[in-house]
Amino acid sequence: MSQLTDQVAVVTGGSRGIGRAIGLELARRGATIVVNYLNESQLDNANETLTAIQAAGSNGMLVPGDVSTEDGSSNLIKAATDAYGRIDILVNNAGITRDNLIMMMKPEDFDAVINVNLRSTWLCSRAAVRSMMRKRYGRIVNIASVSGILGQAGQTNYSASKAGIIGFTKALAREVASRNVTVNAVAPGFVLTDLTKDLPEELTKQLNQLIPLGRWGTVEDIARAVAFLVSEDAAYITGHVLNVDGGMAM
Ligand code: NAP
Repeated sequence: MSQLTDQVAVVTGGSRGIGRAIGLELARRGATIVVNYLNESQLDNANETLTAIQAAGSNGMLVPGDVSTEDGSSNLIKAATDAYGRIDILVNNAGITRDNLIMMMKPEDFDAVINVNLRSTWLCSRAAVRSMMRKRYGRIVNIASVSGILGQAGQTNYSASKAGIIGFTKALAREVASRNVTVNAVAPGFVLTDLTKDLPEELTKQLNQLIPLGRWGTVEDIARAVAFLVSEDAAYITGHVLNVDGGMAM
């Protein structure tokens, strides 16, 4: 297992679900974790995550804030840099859904999903990339989705945001490659979290039939892929989209 000792990682939306698993996996490998989340009402989740990070033998801090806003994203990166003097790894994971058929989808549901999923990725990367370029090292991983590759009915907003993340990943990878900053995306398939727990049973059954490996992913499946992409083993990989989806998008 490649080690991340002395590295500082910022994980947006890191208080629960996939983001929590990513923080924990990076912590197990020695990184210090800055855990972002949105709602003060979710402080218990965030505290649980920090306790688990400490139990894994690492350390970190909680930074609440809305990363889809300029203030929220720049405060997060500033808080991490002020506390630890550096950011080596940024995982843009915060995400939401507001599913509906296009005829019923309200413009505010389109905007909210684009802002939280795509705009936050752009804002946090913009805030973090300067210091990464200056020290000639950085790893950015953006959490996309199989929906951004295949498209998903009822998710025109979400699929567009995730396809946007893929385009953004490749463009930024080209911009910063000469400074030894890599930018990759992980595209999960279906993973059981708060985001997916309320999908209609009928849809879940249909989706199961589309997964060649015959099971939903676990949060740990996604976290290990992220850990690989930020490790020294992936030093020569940039602009890549790693599908972690049981074969759905092959
Ligand atoms: P989740 O369990 O609903 O967790 C979402 C996390 O994002 C929470 O920590 C939440 O904070 C945070 N968040 C939401 N809006 C935010 C904002 N504006 N600013 C800061 N943090 C915000 O979701 P998940 O399933 O783990 O999904 C994580 C990522 O994986 C998302 O990008 C999602 O699109 C992607 N993904 C998930 C699946 C899946 O099947 N689950 C599949 C493909 C891709 P609070 O706790 O404070 O609300």
